[in-house]
Amino acid sequence: MSQHQALPSAVYNLITMPSNRAQRRFAYIIGALVTLISLFSVPFVRVQLGEMPAFQPAIFSTVVCFELITAYVIYSQFKISRQPAVLALFAGYLYSAGMSLVYILAFPRVFADNGLFNSGPQTSVWLYALWHIGFPLAVLIYLRLDAKHQNVRYSARKAKIAGWCTFVGTIVAMTVCTLFTTHYVEQLPTVLSQGQLSPSFVKFVGIPIVILTFITLLIFYIRTKASTVTSTWLCVAILAMMLDVIIVLCGGGRFSLGWYVAKLNSFVCSNVVLAGMIYEFTKMYLNMADLYRKVKESEFSYKVLLGESQQAERTISEQNTIIEQMLESSHEAIIMCDTVGRVIFANRRVELFFENPIRKGDCLSTYCEGMRTSDTTFKSLVEAYFNQSIPPFLKRISRVSLSGEMKHYECYVNPIVNEGADTLRGHLFGFRDRTEEERIDEMKNEFVSIISHEIRTPLSSIMGFSEILATRNVTEDKRVKYVETIHKESMRLSNLINDFLDLQRLDSGRQVFHFQTLNAAHLVGEIVEQWQGRDNHEIELHVLHDFPFIHGDEERLKQVFHNLISNSIKYSPDRSKIDVYVERENGRVLIKIQDYGLGIPADALDKLFARFYRVDNSDRRKIGGTGLGLSIVKEIVEAHHGRVLVESELSRGSIFTVQFDEHIDR
Ligand code: ADP
Repeated sequence: MSQHQALPSAVYNLITMPSNRAQRRFAYIIGALVTLISLFSVPFVRVQLGEMPAFQPAIFSTVVCFELITAYVIYSQFKISRQPAVLALFAGYLYSAGMSLVYILAFPRVFADNGLFNSGPQTSVWLYALWHIGFPLAVLIYLRLDAKHQNVRYSARKAKIAGWCTFVGTIVAMTVCTLFTTHYVEQLPTVLSQGQLSPSFVKFVGIPIVILTFITLLIFYIRTKASTVTSTWLCVAILAMMLDVIIVLCGGGRFSLGWYVAKLNSFVCSNVVLAGMIYEFTKMYLNMADLYRKVKESEFSYKVLLGESQQAERTISEQNTIIEQMLESSHEAIIMCDTVGRVIFANRRVELFFENPIRKGDCLSTYCEGMRTSDTTFKSLVEAYFNQSIPPFLKRISRVSLSGEMKHYECYVNPIVNEGADTLRGHLFGFRDRTEEERIDEMKNEFVSIISHEIRTPLSSIMGFSEILATRNVTEDKRVKYVETIHKESMRLSNLINDFLDLQRLDSGRQVFHFQTLNAAHLVGEIVEQWQGRDNHEIELHVLHDFPFIHGDEERLKQVFHNLISNSIKYSPDRSKIDVYVERENGRVLIKIQDYGLGIPADALDKLFARFYRVDNSDRRKIGGTGLGLSIVKEIVEAHHGRVLVESELSRGSIFTVQFDEHIDR
């Protein structure tokens, strides 16, 4: 498994943060100041100044602290970037902090007369040398790692291990240096005699350190161009370290000007990077605080917007629900099609209308088979509309339903245009069921033809005979005959009007029924009595069972049996026998009226109870009638939750059976 991962494009930290021109300019000014102070002090390095015994430990305490803090800050940046090169810088500062601590502890007459482990002044010189070799070396390692592993980013676990290894390795290096310079100082060449550095130390150690530091500074600057905040200040730190060594090599004893300047350079070297990083860190924090405030503001605006959009969404969805409910509760079948005729919405009535479920996305025309307008098929009309051959239309269409009934509709279509934008959204089709209207129209037509025949015929007789009676002298016989005719025709007219009004009342629901318990045998018997002997017909009543009780309105039921018995008499002109049966069967009371007259053709049976329907054949043309009697019978019987059935054979007679639930009085 790979030990590291590719570096994400932007890991934002103090090591990688780019420096700007102002920052670089400021760093160069500091660098130039340090250089000037150091160079100007060179001729006077040996000039003795006032003794400040606390100066050295005070400066080094700060140096140690600053370098430790710098090491810690650099390590924290490593934890963010996890780039191995950063660990070299961390090691450099940790090493520098440790070596400066050991150096000050080993320095004679600071904490102990002969320094750490009583090892004498040689040790502190060697420690100083190793310290100033270690730091530039760490920077060179940093540059090498940065060049080689720039795009490497350790995993969190590997970063932790690498961090610990670097820490332990640096401590070990420092310990080795310390042990070496304290325990084996006798084996090392003498580098200090009478407070002065030996020429061989200057030549073989001091100058190579200056060269090493200078080369480090040069390479570092060329490679980094001081382009990041850390690299800018690190340039100044390396420069200060180099100047520190140069001043020391120039000689000058303790408390000389050179000594003070060297300590100042050490101080600059130790804190300049930290100062730069803290400054940038503060700026970064301020930016972050500003960013956080902006994020919070955006979050607040987002919440406000979200609330508004949720409210708008709720309003839209409520409006959609209302529109959908309106469309669903409409008595019309409504279909919305897209611009090319595919269904995008259809309310529930559409399914009833087409007797077929409509699928969204299907072409409307595929559902229009079998529908016709007065002059063409509805399918071709719809196709012509979507081909833009015809404008929006309003047409009457008809089709035969699955149950075989003829259905009539009015269909309109309107294009739906986007408000303001003038672009077409689709087309709205509406289908209004006008089967009932069509039936009423038909009834009206029939009514008019009935009026013209059934009313005009008796009226003209009445007018004609009454005129004769009024204007001429007629014999007594003729007068009686004319008056009888006038009476008969008036009765016909009156019956027609009564039938018509009865039906209207039943239809409109204004008919009030007064239900009571009735003995069907008595009720029918009364009617039979009234019609007995009329037109030479003999009516025989057969009550087959006792107590045939029913629950009904006496007057309306009498009307039913009047109609049926009068029809039996009327339509059996050549026969004189009518049988009426009253019987009970399976909880029902049956009243059958049987005649032996003209009978009814089989194809007329299913239309018999329709309004104004009359069987039209020659032998009954002269028999008067309105075609309303049986529809009144049916309406009344059904209002009693009963049924009327008819069995008939042409020229042999008919049986009309009325069924009611038997009424048992508890
Ligand atoms: P109307 O008798 O006034 O014409 P109805 O509604 O009572 O109207 O009857 C409808 C039709 O049914 C009649 O025209 C007649 O042809 C037929 N009809 C009714 N009763 C009988 C019957 N008992 N025998 C033969 N035909 C009948």
